[in-house]
Amino acid sequence: MSVTVISHPLLSHKLTLLRRATTPTALFRQLLREISLLLTYEVTRDLELEEVEVETPLERTRGLRLSGKKLCFVSILRAGNGLLDGMLDLVPAARVGHIGLYRDHVTLKPVEYYAKLPDDIAERVAIVVDPMLATGHSAVAAVERLRALGARRIKALCLIAAPEGLATFEAALPEVPVYTAAIDRQLDEHGYIRPGLGDAGDRLYGTR
Ligand code: URA
Repeated sequence: MSVTVISHPLLSHKLTLLRRATTPTALFRQLLREISLLLTYEVTRDLELEEVEVETPLERTRGLRLSGKKLCFVSILRAGNGLLDGMLDLVPAARVGHIGLYRDHVTLKPVEYYAKLPDDIAERVAIVVDPMLATGHSAVAAVERLRALGARRIKALCLIAAPEGLATFEAALPEVPVYTAAIDRQLDEHGYIRPGLGDAGDRLYGTR
């Protein structure tokens, strides 16, 4: 598996603000959106380009434009939505899919309760987004769902990953690259990433 830890001074600074327990909901949401711009910049670094002619006000020249497969951002509900708006600011033409999963209390396995994906997902580069790669089970389930629909070029994008989640993800999907801004120390007994930032969904929507 390839894990890319995205590094940039602005990202480090904003992530520290996000982690702070006193950061209020509105600022948390704003920071996550800003951070998603920096993450998207890196996760799209290998997009294919083609040369085209362009007429400037002064002369004809050559430029580059995106070519190849189009993108689909797939948000794992609900915290994934905190990254979506910024990603769409950078790639407005991308399609968006949503996958909702909950953890069954008996089996502890993720169960899908919602999925809405573009019909042509198999033709697209899919980027699965969830700020927290904790146990890794949700990310694995989401990627497996996309693969079942024929998607072959898939990446996973998160903000903070736990070493345990990365290990699970790698064991299940060694060929899917993961991008993250940080790999934290550990997963605790409640499934939280430590030191982490708490429950990303609650912090994003102010539900606790
Ligand atoms: N999901 C979260 O929102 N936070 C964690 O620490 C782990 C999973």
